Order: sequence, then structure tokens, then C-alpha cells
Amino acid sequence: HQPVCECNPCYGGSDCSEFQSDCVANAGSGDPLFLEPFWMKHAASSAVLVSGWHRMSYIYSDGSYISELLVDHIKKLHDIVGNAKADGKYIIFGAGSTQLLNAAVYALSPNSSSEPAKVVATSPYYSVYRTATELFNSRDYKYEGDTSLWKNNSDDSSTFIEFVTSPNNPDGKLTTAVLQGSNVKTIYDRAYYWPHFIAIPTAADEDLMVFTISKLTGHAGSRFGWAIIKDADVYERMSRYLTLNTQGVSRDAQLRALKLLNVVLEGEGRELFEFGYTTMRDRWIRLKNVLSKSKRFSLQKLSPQYCSFFQRTKDPSPAYGWLKCEREEDKDCYAVLSAAEIDGRPGSTFSADDRYVRLSLIRSQDDFEILINKLKKLVAE
Ligand code: PMP
Repeated sequence: HQPVCECNPCYGGSDCSEFQSDCVANAGSGDPLFLEPFWMKHAASSAVLVSGWHRMSYIYSDGSYISELLVDHIKKLHDIVGNAKADGKYIIFGAGSTQLLNAAVYALSPNSSSEPAKVVATSPYYSVYRTATELFNSRDYKYEGDTSLWKNNSDDSSTFIEFVTSPNNPDGKLTTAVLQGSNVKTIYDRAYYWPHFIAIPTAADEDLMVFTISKLTGHAGSRFGWAIIKDADVYERMSRYLTLNTQGVSRDAQLRALKLLNVVLEGEGRELFEFGYTTMRDRWIRLKNVLSKSKRFSLQKLSPQYCSFFQRTKDPSPAYGWLKCEREEDKDCYAVLSAAEIDGRPGSTFSADDRYVRLSLIRSQDDFEILINKLKKLVAE
């Protein structure tokens, strides 16, 4: 079937070919539409058809909420990519990684202790760690700011829950935990730990790692993620959260994830990751080239690294540009870009300085081309 295309908001006319000159480049949200061309190429093999009578039950035939076949696919994928050790560990599913991050905070918090766990992250960090923790407003955990505030508090015996995003959103750095000690529990958010975005140095083996298909296959709308857990108690508590919160993940979403991973696993994942990596690398090179013509802006520094999956050294291919406005007067970098009709995410969203703006590079090709054109104009001025 020919795909039915909706016009990008920057284009109009009956065939979406008329450029709307007053439009704003959308480099805001991390909607991973850069993978759409891959799935158009695999339209038939990735399609799902579900009859009305099919899979109506709350549970699978083994009585669980989790498709064991999908667990096997996920383990096989990690094995092939070499980005995480999953064998012998527990796997649990969530509605995107978002639900699992909340489940993890619940599971790692001491229950009914007199002091709530301190939830922390290192700036610049993905803002949902803070906003979701604050929304749930629990007696058992509380958001307590940046890890830098707690680094030298070795005599603080309360439980710490540190979020580590690796590679980091927004700056693409391969980060590790800042806090150490028996009272520190770490949630490794591995949403971007795929060969699209980073050279894989080694298989991650942390106690609690969270993954999502959103940034792996690009199917953010299916809301499917998984956590790999070492400890049986933590697994039980996360399962309890999932059961009470939503009774597990939509069986339809699991079926779709299974179908998609089947396609990914064909040819040992090479086609998807080659496509993802070359797309992201080319975008990064073009972004860097445009901005290199100006001293007004700079980007995060990333260097080529050896990738164990591709078995070669790879150039950087981050999901986001972490742009800095260098001029003294450009304290509000978001406003500088807005005036040039570019919509990014202000640094303060990531608890960082507003001299920074995150530019999303994982959106559709149209969005990226419009971003590059607007940046070219801005730099030429
Ligand atoms: N973690 C990070 C670091 C993210 O950037 C995102 C999405 N932007 C998520 C988690 C949430 O992803 P999802 O719920 O779609 O799996």
C-alpha cells in the first residue's frame, strides 16, 4: 500500500509541496520519526492484523500479563547488539519506559520508613524524573535536586535513588552514577543505548536498566518499554506497581512490539542499525557544519568511539544537539532561536542554564531540513 501522507505543518497544497515561509522549525520534542523510512520499506512484514475475537483476555494462556515470546525476542536482541546483559535476570514490561521509571522509584523506596528516599539526577537531565516524582507526591520518596548537592554527604544515611541517563538526554554523553554507597540505588535509563545514537563499548550490566521501543524502533505511540532487573525483591515490587497501576501492558502493544522486533532481528539487526546510525551521523555532520560557520553558537563535544556491534570506530550520532549561545548578551538562547523561527527546548527544562537549548535531531527528514535551513539563515545573519 502507498502510505497516506499528512503534510508537515511547514508544507501545504494538495501534494504537500508548497513551503509555508512563516512556519517554525520543530526541533522541540523527541518524536523519533527518523525511522519512518525504514518501516515504509518493511511495510508488509511489519504489519499487524488482529481479528476481533483475538486476545480478549486479561491474561496469556500461562496466566501472566507478559508475552514470554516477546521476552525471548528482547533477550535475543540484547545478545545480538551486545548492549545489555539480560540472561538470568528478570524482565518486566511497561507502558513506555515512563511507567517503568515510576515503578522503579516506587520499588526502590523504603516503604513506610520515617524518611522518604531522596530522588536525584545530574544536570542536564530529562525533566520527567523530577516532574513525575513531584506529581506522585509520595510519603516514601521525594525529589531532592541535583546530585551535586549530595556528593559530599557521606554521613547522610537516607536512601538515595539516582537517575542516570546513559547516553544522556540532552547531551548524548555516556554518563555513570555520581553517588556511591550501600544506601544509593541507581536507575539506569538506557533509552538511547542503541547503535543509532552511540558506539556501544560494552554490554551494560547494572542492577536496574530501563529500555524502550520508542527510541529503538521509533514506535513511541505504542507505549512499550521493558526493565531488566537483577534483584528478585525489586522485581516483585515493580510487578506489584504494574499490576495495580494498569494490570500490565496492553496485549495489543505487546503483539505489535513482537512483530516489529521480528523484523529488527532479521539479519541480526544490521539493517535497522545501519539505517539509524547513518541517518543520525549525517544529521550530526550537517548540524555541525552549519554551526561551525559562526562563533555565536557551539555544540557539545563528542568524539568517534569503537562500537562492539559494528566492530569499527563510529563517528558521533547523537539524538540531540545541545546548543550553547556563546555571546554574553544571549542569556536566553531559546529566545534567540525563537526569533529565528526555531523551536527547541530551553536549558532550564533540563535544570541547566538557559544559555543552552536542546535541538531534537530524531524527528522526520522534513523537520530536520527545515531546521537546517533556518539555522543557515540565522548563522548567515
Ligand atoms: N527516558 C528518556 C531519557 C527519554 O528521553 C524519554 C522520551 N523522550 C523517555 C525516557 C520516555 O520514553 P517512553 O515513555 O516513550 O518509553
